[in-house]
Amino acid sequence: MADKTNKVPLNVPGKWYVDTSCIDCDVCRTTAPNNFKANEDEGYSYVYKQPETPEEEAQCQEAKASCPVEAIGDDGDE
Ligand code: SF4
Repeated sequence: MADKTNKVPLNVPGKWYVDTSCIDCDVCRTTAPNNFKANEDEGYSYVYKQPETPEEEAQCQEAKASCPVEAIGDDGDE
């Protein structure tokens, strides 16, 4: 389960985030390309835009379920 106390630095504020356990595998960027981007210099993904539509929310949920190391969280606002 993702840890909201260990978010990667580039996440935009909001409920969705990536934490530091990310292994830069590309699954989330493929699954939810509107919301996840790569920090190619540092080798991790981050949330660059919070989901704004039901479709983006669903893609983020799918990315969270597919992340091999459970680095994606959706409790960043709590
Ligand atoms: S799916 Fe998970 S491990 Fe892979 S790049 Fe995204 S956050 Fe990182």
